[in-house]
Amino acid sequence: MSNVLLTGGAGYIGSHTAVALAAAGHRVVVYDNFSNSEPAAVQRLAQVVGAPVVTIEGDVRDTALLQRTLLEQKIDAVIHFAGLKAVGESVLKPIDYYANNVQGAISLLQAMQGAGCKTLVFSSSATVYGDPHYLPIDEAHPTRATSPYGRCKLHIEEILADVSVADPSWRLAALRYFNPVGAHPSGLIGENPNGIPNNLMPFVAQVAVGKLPQLNVFGNDYDTPDGTGVRDYIHVMDLAEGHLAALKFLMQHPGLHTFNLGTGRGYSVLEMIKAFEAASGKPVPYTVAPRRAGDIASCYASVEFSAQTLNWRATRSLKDMCESSWKFQQNI
Ligand code: NAD
Ligand code: UDP
Repeated sequence: MSNVLLTGGAGYIGSHTAVALAAAGHRVVVYDNFSNSEPAAVQRLAQVVGAPVVTIEGDVRDTALLQRTLLEQKIDAVIHFAGLKAVGESVLKPIDYYANNVQGAISLLQAMQGAGCKTLVFSSSATVYGDPHYLPIDEAHPTRATSPYGRCKLHIEEILADVSVADPSWRLAALRYFNPVGAHPSGLIGENPNGIPNNLMPFVAQVAVGKLPQLNVFGNDYDTPDGTGVRDYIHVMDLAEGHLAALKFLMQHPGLHTFNLGTGRGYSVLEMIKAFEAASGKPVPYTVAPRRAGDIASCYASVEFSAQTLNWRATRSLKDMCESSWKFQQNI
């Protein structure tokens, strides 16, 4: 068992990873400023875990508080989820994004160095691949950022690479997530974005439950089987378990390691709508709207390197993703 600090642990992916870590016998400590979550999320997390979860309210840019937390809580490893994540907003507010995300990561590394804690798993994103040159996308695919959000992820990956060269005893993993969806089967935790959702699945769920009137399908003239965008949707619990596998791997392997976390299978927007309608028994009305700026036709992962190296593979189906997301949507 080890003590694992989750920055951004009250958020969507962090809370699910906390469940997976606790189930594997680790002690989790949540560190979050609640800028995109609420303390009640940690209460629900505690209900799922069946024990209180130590929670520190703080900003990752507060290096002193972070360092004190690492020492006081005897933290062995950190998973860094905290950050702002809306691509469109990052174009409008680049300074906020670089400050929260890049400055936040630097602050965390300083605190970890100060506390002598050198094991870190970082939430990166498939957005670092830009418009794919080939599919499926493997980890050797060239990287290119197309927004300040993506550039933050790339900058942080580059910083991690430099840290690893300077001091090879660091154990660092950059996990490039594809499209996490779904929720814990309890229906107690899930994705609950503030305001109108930017992402497809929370939007679809809110249409199905009657909160929003209809979905806009952004473009049906892409070079894909039905003309709508294809993405690699991965169940958030599979993604959560990928973090466990990465932590385990790092115990044996210092250095920086980069992994795709996806399923290797793409689904179109229309396939996602159909699957959600089947899982919920509710209609999801939609209209076809113009393409969204910056969107690409298809994006899905090669998962072979992760499977071989981490001994991890996503196992949950599209049906599981939609059913769990629907269960959570009805609870909130
Ligand atoms: P989320 O917004 O639900 O969770 C992020 C958490 O970090 C929130 O609880 C927020 O309050 C906290 N936070 C933000 N800035 C902070 C700061 N400066 N100090 C302390 N806490 C702060 O997002 P999520 O979907 O769980 O994403 C987690 C990570 O995964 C992010 O880094 C995101 O960029 C990355 N990621 C997400 C997706 C996705 O589709 N959800 C895809 C790829 C990568
Ligand atoms: N999408 C859509 N309507 C929406 C939101 C998304 O048609 O309201 C499409 C989008 O064009 C893309 C897919 O759904 O093809 C996934 O989009 P999302 O924003 O969830 O993820 P990302 O763009 O980051 O892959």
